[in-house]
Amino acid sequence: MENDKKPAAATTEQDLPRGNPTATKEDQARDNSNPSAINHTSPTGFRERRFRQTTLPAHFVERRKRPRIQTEPPPPPAPPRIGDYASIIGMPELDEIRFLARHLKGKTVKMVNSTAVGGGVAEILNRLVPLMNELEVSTKWEVITGGNDFYEITKGYHNALHGGDYNLTPQIEDIFLSYSEQNRQRIEFVEDLFVIHDPQPLALVRSKADTRGRWVWRCHIDLSNPHPGVWGFLKPMVEQYDAAIFSSPAFTRQLAVPQYLFFPSIDPLSEKNKDLEESYIDKVCDDFGIDRSRPILTQISRFDRLKDPVGVIEAYKLVKKYTDCQLVLAGGGATDDPEGAAVLQEVMDAAGDDPDVIILNLPPWSALEINALQRASTIIIQKSLKEGFGLTVTEGLWKEKPVVAGAVGGIPNQIIHKLTGLLVHSVEGCAYQIRYLLTHPEFAAQLGKNGREHAKENFLITVNLKRWLILFQILLGMAKPGKTS
Ligand code: UDP
Repeated sequence: MENDKKPAAATTEQDLPRGNPTATKEDQARDNSNPSAINHTSPTGFRERRFRQTTLPAHFVERRKRPRIQTEPPPPPAPPRIGDYASIIGMPELDEIRFLARHLKGKTVKMVNSTAVGGGVAEILNRLVPLMNELEVSTKWEVITGGNDFYEITKGYHNALHGGDYNLTPQIEDIFLSYSEQNRQRIEFVEDLFVIHDPQPLALVRSKADTRGRWVWRCHIDLSNPHPGVWGFLKPMVEQYDAAIFSSPAFTRQLAVPQYLFFPSIDPLSEKNKDLEESYIDKVCDDFGIDRSRPILTQISRFDRLKDPVGVIEAYKLVKKYTDCQLVLAGGGATDDPEGAAVLQEVMDAAGDDPDVIILNLPPWSALEINALQRASTIIIQKSLKEGFGLTVTEGLWKEKPVVAGAVGGIPNQIIHKLTGLLVHSVEGCAYQIRYLLTHPEFAAQLGKNGREHAKENFLITVNLKRWLILFQILLGMAKPGKTS
């Protein structure tokens, strides 16, 4: 897949002002032909080329101050049918899925998570559940409810399970368990299979003894380095399940129950990922004041410190000293994330009055706009400090974009460094790789092509659906897993 003739990507992470040692003569010629680049000799003797901002046309300034954000949810689109995926995965693959589902006809499934909108889990369930139903594996999706105190606690658990600090008290445990009890009373558990997503609804497993079904905990987060107190509290609940599923081998813990690996997935036919007309992408850029004639760097993420939006701004500022570009930071608040508003403020403070940092606080019904932003981008960034799997990376890969992302969580499963994208470990490294891609467009295009193939083979919803159908058969005793030793 890799083009041998491409220039080698930067391998060291260093501060850009020291100059880019991998810049070719052509790059220098290209940069030097930029009328807004000026020469400047650094104290180390390198000839630096500094980018000088020209005045932004008034209509962009105006639109950036007042982006046209859709205030009402659009009517929901007709969901794709399973047959529609043939054009992407081919008929033989589709036949396999139908064959697996036929054996589960009449079985019932319940999926439970903590939010209907925002975040990767909701994104997956929104598509997985209708497809299972179309395949006549009757599947219901329930969302647990809780007060602000519950979501503060589960956010604290989330951060703590990612290795953060946390002061777990008996009172906090009681609040967590009492909301679980309320949800347990409200939700009916009559299905054959229960799939409980992430720690928030974990304690629903207390209902297991009253059901005839099999229970699976689907953990979407990285448990490799959890806070011992929080994990010590949650682990006995996890071990009451019949199986646990993780998104990467590196995320797992030793458990007394069988574990499975499921990569998360995206739906190539959803509003977020389907092909778009260029005219629509133009319109979205126009609505947000984004100039398509200049490079666009984009990070789409909830405003969450673990996504490091402020680090992205710092990286952009390093790049911008030398290369023209705009930065788009688009996100919204998931309903289960009370920190969003505070982080958004930090991001706005970090951006200051730079007219080329475009911060968009988007409502949850912005899938088409996000799709257009990703497609308009020159580079997709996901500079997370901690990450579950990182669906925004998958979305970027699928759209054939070069992706620069933090080497954390499930991102290295998606980005094979220098083959399907570029992994970074610091602000300086992020800036370095962005600048490298901006000055090596052929290499950037090759990464995009490889990335799309990688996403197609591993991270599409059809691959995920197949895995669920096989696992259900195993759990219901209809199929036996092969011996692994
Ligand atoms: N997303 C969105 N609107 C936003 C921010 C994110 O629709 O304002 C989507 C994004 O496109 C992706 C998902 O939410 O599909 C985020 O998943 P990811 O695994 O990257 O991160 P999480 O939010 O689950 O930590």
